[in-house]
Amino acid sequence: MIRILDKNTADKIAAGEVVERPLSIVKELVENSIDAGAGNIVVEIKNGGKTYIRVTDNGCGIKADECELAFMRHATSKITVAEDLNAIDTLGFRGEALASIAAVSRTELLTKTADSKTGKKVSIYGGEVAESVSCGCPDGTTIVVRDLFYNTPARLKFLKADSTESSAVIDFVTNIALAYPEIRIRMINNDKILFATNGKGNRGATIGTLTSNIVKEKLIAFEYNEDKITVEGYVSGPGESRSSRKSQVFFVNGRVVDSKVIEKGINKAYSDRLFEGRFPICYLFLHVPPERMDVNIHPNKRQVRFYDETVITEIVQRGIITALNSNKAVPEVKESITYNSKPQPQSAGHYEFIEKTEKINSQPFKVKEKVDINNILSNYEHKKENLEVEEQMAVFETNSMPVLKSDSQNTAAQRFNFLELTVHGQFFGTYIQLSDIDAIYYVDQHAAHERIFFEKLSEQWNNSKKHSQPIMFPIVKDVSHSDKEKESSWLPLLKNMGFFIEDFGPLSYKISEIPAFMDIKEAENFLDDFIDSIGEYTDFNDERTLNKIATRACKAAVKANDTLSDEEINRLLADLSKCKNPFSCPHGRPTFIKITKNDMEKRFKRT
Ligand code: ADP
Ligand code: MG
Repeated sequence: MIRILDKNTADKIAAGEVVERPLSIVKELVENSIDAGAGNIVVEIKNGGKTYIRVTDNGCGIKADECELAFMRHATSKITVAEDLNAIDTLGFRGEALASIAAVSRTELLTKTADSKTGKKVSIYGGEVAESVSCGCPDGTTIVVRDLFYNTPARLKFLKADSTESSAVIDFVTNIALAYPEIRIRMINNDKILFATNGKGNRGATIGTLTSNIVKEKLIAFEYNEDKITVEGYVSGPGESRSSRKSQVFFVNGRVVDSKVIEKGINKAYSDRLFEGRFPICYLFLHVPPERMDVNIHPNKRQVRFYDETVITEIVQRGIITALNSNKAVPEVKESITYNSKPQPQSAGHYEFIEKTEKINSQPFKVKEKVDINNILSNYEHKKENLEVEEQMAVFETNSMPVLKSDSQNTAAQRFNFLELTVHGQFFGTYIQLSDIDAIYYVDQHAAHERIFFEKLSEQWNNSKKHSQPIMFPIVKDVSHSDKEKESSWLPLLKNMGFFIEDFGPLSYKISEIPAFMDIKEAENFLDDFIDSIGEYTDFNDERTLNKIATRACKAAVKANDTLSDEEINRLLADLSKCKNPFSCPHGRPTFIKITKNDMEKRFKRT
């Protein structure tokens, strides 16, 4: 028998689509508060939100005679006609949230508009109005949701442990606080204040409040504009990384999103700075013109579709690279590292974050992917187009850098130049000391050498004209049977790096020319390690495999030879200055560190 469901049943079914768990309720209520123009929002939960959720705001409030209406399905003040759907600037618009929440809990609304003398209190239990009275209350709205799913026990069973539910809520509120630094947001869990942002609009300060002092100090702030898209970001330098993506949060026009497109941009920016499997900390805030993307995919899913994905990836990548190439990316020696005594204030939000902000406005400039050093090794296929690549490289260098420097409105990120520093000498056979007027620098000569070697190797790889040098006594290399079997996968790679290599007996090869930038010892070490690595990898067409081999081999290539002459020091510094990424070796260790005058003054207790 076909029947029309009664209202109660229909409501419960519909509610299931909006209300899955405490997180969904908090999300809807907080978004309503933001839509109501609140400057102050408090979120409180108990027992993972299962028994108690409260969201209080100081927004516009709901008129007394509209309170019950607000709980009706498809009741919304945000759109009137279907055409409005094309220009949505509020977070909610379906008019389903309050109805759905009230259908599966005991919900209480307390609200007052500024122009009304008294407020209104409405209680709705399982979708039925239980109480509706006038009462005194401050301007704004409080909604309390008790006993979630009390009337749908089957769904109650699907909720996870309290701690799982609460951490989902806390993560969400944290992200909202990041997205809206101009709103004061307080999070209370089981009667304990977890954090309170100051609402002053300073994103760096907000990050400091929400993460830890230590993390905050390691982040480099940047802003990058191109093609009407803005990326504001806080990213960690190469010296700091995590083993998962958990410390990466992306916002697009104020909404938290998951995005492979953005992740790809991050990966590319860091690919020669971090090991495989390590992830930088990234808070990225993108502003993309609404007509260039689709947000209306699913209300609960954190997904957007960008119409031009490549552009987004490239802008993210370039923004981060500009940040990483600025001198703010130099790892600083912090007082807190050496003096371990002062406890750091945590999560109270009472301290100011001294922000490392560089605003970088860049003209759009076109850089093809293959110009990026990270991709060079993977472009084995494209090596014939190398002259074109070289030309683009020149364009990249001349186009991008002067723009960064000449922007007078912003503190531009200057490219770091070692040749402007005074050299003081070499210490412990390992470190070169340098200084400028407000800092001392120590270059790790081995790390620097690895970086230079890696970049020269990549350059050679990419260049159709190989700069090779004949050697007087050829190097003879023996390989295993299985390596010999796989010859076709690795031999061309060596040739493409500028080695002249030919068969020399059943399992031997003779190398009579090596890349011009290597000395014989380096070439021998490199070959040893390169051939050693072959067995570990199978997919030689994979960009990451090539990167890994090259990275490993670079390490082997640069051994000992500790004492450097002045001339060698100068050459090393000049070569390092020319590197695209002078800040870390290919394995992610810093090539140099900086101790500022300010750090010194702190240690001598002058400040
Ligand atoms: P939607 O947000 O999709 O419009 P909701 O069910 O979430 O639908 O809310 C229904 C209506 O109730 C909103 O359109 C708004 O007018 C009003 N409302 C809800 N929460 C608040 C709030 N915190 N402050 C002011 N008005 C609110
Ligand atoms: Mg809503």
